[in-house]
Amino acid sequence: MLGHVHPDADVLGTLLALDLALADQGWSVVSGGPHPAPELLSFLPGIDRYRRLDRVSGPLDVVVLTDCPNPDRTEGLIDQARASGATIVNIDHHHDNRRYGTVNWIDPTAAATGEMVYQLLVALGVAITPAIATNLFTAIHMDTGSFRYSNVTPETFRIAGALVTAGADPYRVSNALYERRSANALHWLGEALRRIELSEDARVAWLALPADLVPESFIEAEDLVNYPRSIESVRVACLLRERDGRVKVSFRGKGDVDVSAIARKFGGGGHPNAAGCTMTGPLADATETALAAVRAALEP
Ligand code: AMP
Ligand code: MN
Ligand code: MN
Repeated sequence: MLGHVHPDADVLGTLLALDLALADQGWSVVSGGPHPAPELLSFLPGIDRYRRLDRVSGPLDVVVLTDCPNPDRTEGLIDQARASGATIVNIDHHHDNRRYGTVNWIDPTAAATGEMVYQLLVALGVAITPAIATNLFTAIHMDTGSFRYSNVTPETFRIAGALVTAGADPYRVSNALYERRSANALHWLGEALRRIELSEDARVAWLALPADLVPESFIEAEDLVNYPRSIESVRVACLLRERDGRVKVSFRGKGDVDVSAIARKFGGGGHPNAAGCTMTGPLADATETALAAVRAALEP
């Protein structure tokens, strides 16, 4: 079970659900990826099974990637997996998935890869244990912003309902995700929010975070880009965070602006309403470049 860079709840929840289900059927499973799981997601059942991998060593029969649109997002691990002769299974909901697998199952109508893996396990007749249900429920919870984004469909709620019936506890998941802040976190939040800027026409809001202003674990735990996004007039929101001389950019759109097209200009990608890319620094230059691309996308 091979994860993408900086793993989030959708990739971890789906890989762990598959790991637990397959291990229960007697398979020998290794789960991991280029980066470790963030502290925020340490409550996911089976998270100890997910580790940071320097390399992938065989023999492997099958390598499954979930929520990973682009093979580059494994930092080379997929190439080592391929070299071992493994069948590559690519399960994802990004419309711009590169179809790099031996088997490619891409469903852009799914709000999260968690919905797809739920359907897969049901189709396989696998018992959805409370541990599996919690992983898949958390995947869907986070990719829908707690069931608030435009990707939510009736199917999202049907699946979430089935997962709660199978033993996922919505209160415990919300509590683990949103009610475990440190006392310092509100101070850092204040530091970050003070930096939000709004364009003259009030259609673009952005937050540029210099390195070392706030801790990395804080940024991972807070969906900071949602604050500029929440301004009513805003069509596109951006979060730019400086790290190791590079700038990781998150774009969020409202309405009909396709922010994945903006991210793609800089070698990134994502969903029409939520996308990202990595740019070269310094922060001020990256901000200017990203905002120019956003303005161009908003031109009538
Ligand atoms: P983020 O802003 O990191 O939460 O990412 C939002 C969406 O954009 C997710 O679906 C990511 O898979 C995608 N994304 C973020 N960064 C990149 C990137 N560098 N390349 C391709 N897709 C990305
Ligand atoms: Mn993801
Ligand atoms: Mn996802």
